[in-house]
Amino acid sequence: MSNQKVAIITLGCSKNTVESESVAGLFLKEGFDLTNDIFKSDIIVIHTCSFIKDARLESENCIKYTGEIKEKKPYLKIFVSGCLPQLLKNQLLQKYPFIDGCVGTGNFGDIVKLIKKDVFFKNTEIAGGMNDSSKRVLSSSLPTTYIKISEGCNHKCSFCIIPKLRGKYQSRSINSIVNEAKALADCGIKEINIIAQDTTSYGLDIYGKLSLHKLMDKLSQINDLKWIRLLYAYPSRINKQLLDVISQRENICKYIDIPIQHISKHVLKNMARPVNAREIVENIKKQYPDIILRTSIIAGFPRETEEDFKELVGFVRENHFEHIGIFGYSDQKNAKSFNLKNKIKHELIETRKQIVANAQFQNVLKNNKNKIGKSFEFLIENIAGKKAYGRTYFQAPEIDNNVFVNLQSNNIKAGEFKKIIVSGIKDYDIIAQLETEKKAGWKMV
Ligand code: SF4
Repeated sequence: MSNQKVAIITLGCSKNTVESESVAGLFLKEGFDLTNDIFKSDIIVIHTCSFIKDARLESENCIKYTGEIKEKKPYLKIFVSGCLPQLLKNQLLQKYPFIDGCVGTGNFGDIVKLIKKDVFFKNTEIAGGMNDSSKRVLSSSLPTTYIKISEGCNHKCSFCIIPKLRGKYQSRSINSIVNEAKALADCGIKEINIIAQDTTSYGLDIYGKLSLHKLMDKLSQINDLKWIRLLYAYPSRINKQLLDVISQRENICKYIDIPIQHISKHVLKNMARPVNAREIVENIKKQYPDIILRTSIIAGFPRETEEDFKELVGFVRENHFEHIGIFGYSDQKNAKSFNLKNKIKHELIETRKQIVANAQFQNVLKNNKNKIGKSFEFLIENIAGKKAYGRTYFQAPEIDNNVFVNLQSNNIKAGEFKKIIVSGIKDYDIIAQLETEKKAGWKMV
């Protein structure tokens, strides 16, 4: 009897990716085989997202799709996990009775044992996450990955339902994170992206004080790691110790993802977010000018006035951010902001989103033009014919723009780091040439 084949479909954020990779390791340990082909699988696990309406829709469409496959393959088992079952609980099973079992966020790690019992299960009581990622099966062959340093969130941003889905803030110990990073580096990983709902509250619960700077310092002592990047930093939790460690350690990217969501004090107050976002950003840029900033912005939040919006666009035009993730406000029944009056019409939300995007695009063109002729280290992520593409230290995976390199020869491989010289720009992306080929006097075609 050959081992049962399991296909894990991961939706949503990079935290879900880490969790799915961890559960994949548990399946292997329990004697299952893994497959990326859902049509060859005996078991499908859908690790879902329900952060906003579109994410819920994507998760439900995926469930429906696997249900159609099961109609033709009745022995196929379908299990659903993560944020959607955590949010919908019984409703999900009533809507999709073909589901063979579901777990929420707090006990995703139990899913393998529950599946082995071969009886129906539903367990969506505990909100939380999987913090043991010691047996991860990496889903990418590239030398880049994520490490999740904590789960849950204690903030109360009025538009967000994550604390309901993921529970209270739970830090992992520094040792467990450093051991995981060492194990990943031993597997050839060169880039680690530090993630959580809020990375900067790290340690407050288990060490009684903000300890991210200590963790980053420890991680920077793993010499095989070339790039350590900080994502999801909560503005008011960024302190001098953290900024010093980032600016002084060679293998920590001079890069911080600091979602501010807005700049108007009026809107930030309604969002229940730090109202001094402007001061925080300006101080970082003044005292640590080499640190590249990325942020996220929500346009069209309830009660956002023309004045508020003008202030936001004005701030974007001051060009503090290399990258901005721009979102339109999405109304969630389970979020506090759902009860706010003066909601902005959908069309106007889309218009405001576009205006912010246009303002940021001018910054991107200017910033990228200023890089022409400059040299950077480049991680090759893919090669197609005479073109390679990848990223530099100031570009995070999956969310930022890319660098495209025109090649003369083909003696390079994905996963390698090479020196490049920027030679041009194309929309959001950067065009470059390998330094070695430039020096060899090979002309760009
Ligand atoms: S910090 Fe992030 S995860 Fe936490 S409540 Fe705010 S938006 Fe949600």
